[in-house]
Amino acid sequence: MKNPHSQPHRAAQTSEERAEAPSPRVGAEGGPGEGRGRPAQGEGIFERARSFGERPAIVDPSGTTSYRELLNAADRVAAALLNRLGGSEPEPRIAFLVPPSVEYVAVMWGVWRAGGIAVPLALAYPQPELEYAVAECDAALLVADAELAARLEPIARERQIPLLRTDELLTSVDQDTSTELPPVDATQGALILFTSGTTGRPKGAVLTHANIEAQVESLVEAWDWSGDDRILEILPLHHLHGIINVLCCALWSGAICEILPRFDAEVVWKRILDGGITLLMAVPTIYVRLISAWEAAGDERRRDLSRAARGLRLMVSGSAALPVPVLERWHEISGHVLLERYGMTEIGMALSNPLDGERVAGAVGSPLPGVEVRIVGDDGEPLGDGEAGEVEVRGPMVFRGYWRREQATRECFRSDGWFRTGDVGIRKNGVYRLLGRQSVDIIKCGGEKVSALEIESFLVDHPAIRECAVVGTPDAEWGQRVTAAVVLEEGATLDLETLRTWCKQRLAVYKVPSALHLLDELPRNAMGKVTKPAVAELIAGR
Ligand code: AMP
Repeated sequence: MKNPHSQPHRAAQTSEERAEAPSPRVGAEGGPGEGRGRPAQGEGIFERARSFGERPAIVDPSGTTSYRELLNAADRVAAALLNRLGGSEPEPRIAFLVPPSVEYVAVMWGVWRAGGIAVPLALAYPQPELEYAVAECDAALLVADAELAARLEPIARERQIPLLRTDELLTSVDQDTSTELPPVDATQGALILFTSGTTGRPKGAVLTHANIEAQVESLVEAWDWSGDDRILEILPLHHLHGIINVLCCALWSGAICEILPRFDAEVVWKRILDGGITLLMAVPTIYVRLISAWEAAGDERRRDLSRAARGLRLMVSGSAALPVPVLERWHEISGHVLLERYGMTEIGMALSNPLDGERVAGAVGSPLPGVEVRIVGDDGEPLGDGEAGEVEVRGPMVFRGYWRREQATRECFRSDGWFRTGDVGIRKNGVYRLLGRQSVDIIKCGGEKVSALEIESFLVDHPAIRECAVVGTPDAEWGQRVTAAVVLEEGATLDLETLRTWCKQRLAVYKVPSALHLLDELPRNAMGKVTKPAVAELIAGR
């Protein structure tokens, strides 16, 4: 399929938002961004931000914040954090529960400026998951939005760590101009993001400043980001997709990141209609929702929405497989062939369809700048074109490891630095396609990665459940849905709503089963082990 947007179109900015400085382009000789290849500097994003001065950085419901104001806010946060931390511990983890907003960015940057590791907590986490995340990263300090602080208070009390509120941090008088902020070291941890594996509970993936820089520079180059861009941020900010691909790429480029506090298809369409947006990045489920909202509109509005959508220069899909019918329908509606890319919390983005040139439906393209990708067989030896095997990735963007999980870290790397993704793929003429995952225990629901084993470990505690198996079943909107196959205790009853209510107190809502099948017994192999593919088949046959 041909990409109709090979001539990048840039939407106009309003005069108020147009800065005096010329639009920065990454890679310009001698500028703050000399481009990929030079050694990473932890200060990179801040140096660049300084050079963008009065240009608008963030637009959110509270208004417009310039790069200078954002840096000042981050410095205030950093000074207040340093006062509380006392500087004794290396790489202090600061976990924060803040909705997508300029405060979120000020906290994340403030943590970085204070030499800490930012640990964004998912707003969707119920209490037990918040407790788990704070304990797993062994946070030294907690930060919460004023309205969410009550959720972290018991955790702060229990663990005897300070809890600071964003409103206090941002108006902090702690900032005494003499507070020296330490230089940001590129090799030090910057972010911990929780990701589900095939074993146990979520692990904290540590990305260093150098990892983040490598990821951002690669995407900025591949997708031609510039200071003329304006992106809508509609993704949750506890996940790499929103943090790196949207927020960090925008701020690295001197672009505007316009943050909507939550995804709402009508609001997104209205914003596209109002003009000025150049970029949209989302998971397939969001495009499905936008398609439904477009289809629910009248003829005239549909025409207006489609015309406005054509004004964007690039729309990207990722974090889960983009079904070809969704790609085709979106093309009819918006004129855009969605650019599908492939990535993972541990590696950033690895493969991408091209910005210019042909985007192949159902494929995830070729390695991004600076990323090495290969397909290997069961013996770990590289395979040739047309042979299916595990996708492995290597490069400066690949994470440092799981926080205090040395064995899990060792297991996912080969001795020569290749990271084993657990995804199965195939390459033909340099273009990669994904065929699925090696493990049936990883489910992708609406772009969120969940571990079937983790959910099972909660379900077996339900008094009505004797045994269970959780599988991902195909779903047009969510990609996969979390489906529980359950054998009940003698005489017990259970319906989906009761189960969901019970689960929501323990698990983030995206992990809560949305389908329940009661079985007399679970299919097992000769060894007595539950055979998940047989469970999925049984359910599909019902
Ligand atoms: P996460 O770490 O939550 O971003 O999940 C990463 C996983 O999402 C990958 O290992 C893949 O299984 C899946 N994934 C990401 N992008 C794609 C894509 N374009 N097509 C299919 N699966 C994808």
